[in-house]
Amino acid sequence: MHIRKRLFIGLMIVSFVTVLSLLLLGWYTINYQDHLWNQALIGLIGLVFLVLILIIAFGIAAMIFSIWQDRAIPQLYRWTRMATNVLFPLALVLAKVLGISSDRLKSSFIEVSNQLIKTREFNISPERIMILGPHCLQKSSCPYKITLDINNCKECGACPVDELKRLANRYGVVLTIVSGGTWARKMIMERAPQAIVAVACERDLTSGIQDIDRIPVIGVLNDRPEGPCYNTRVNLEKVEEAIRFFLYGDRQGWQIESPSSSRKVLKKTRTSKIIS
Ligand code: SF4
Repeated sequence: MHIRKRLFIGLMIVSFVTVLSLLLLGWYTINYQDHLWNQALIGLIGLVFLVLILIIAFGIAAMIFSIWQDRAIPQLYRWTRMATNVLFPLALVLAKVLGISSDRLKSSFIEVSNQLIKTREFNISPERIMILGPHCLQKSSCPYKITLDINNCKECGACPVDELKRLANRYGVVLTIVSGGTWARKMIMERAPQAIVAVACERDLTSGIQDIDRIPVIGVLNDRPEGPCYNTRVNLEKVEEAIRFFLYGDRQGWQIESPSSSRKVLKKTRTSKIIS
């Protein structure tokens, strides 16, 4: 048997045995709860469970408070990220049971994640900001290898890479076009950005945001008029808005409105423009 198969099957068996052992332990402690040790064990498990629930509840409350008040509480930021990352897989399962499309849920996750980032203050130098785009933005017939070097793009205007390159040059930020998650991680390691404006589909943005939790990421969903992963497009205004936010803390496109109720809502004020 190949070693990679053995590893997976081995870990599957260990996981199964672990779950079975935990179930047996639970059954034993509940059936023999008169024993002092079992009472202590039940108490300890209950305590750990309670602490976990409290941490997650605290994280959710901090997240709602941050979005509602439109400001970050630095001490709580870690907890909000942790709560979203822990609960997101459960939300995905629930969405599947309820017949909600996973793309819809992932879009919502990206919106929340962006909003949490936008409650914070940034003033990052341009060379530490990276625009990270997928190679499906490139015209499928383009012969130039832009994932190796973005300067290989001849700026012919046939795809959004042209405009992204101009935008990156105008602000002095780094533009990287990647062919997948592994390449993206490599470029992030090499260039060590302090902030990322990531363009991708729901699936890639969601996993990317969760993967690189330590770097602030604003996600911009790509537009897919010709189907997934093929000649995709991007809203340039959203990318520029994210760059300006990281550079100057500029939130021109996001204004707090005070409706008749006391609740504050964030409203986009700019019109969107899809570039092709
Ligand atoms: S703008 Fe033109 S040269 Fe640049 S990647 Fe797109 S098709 Fe290729």
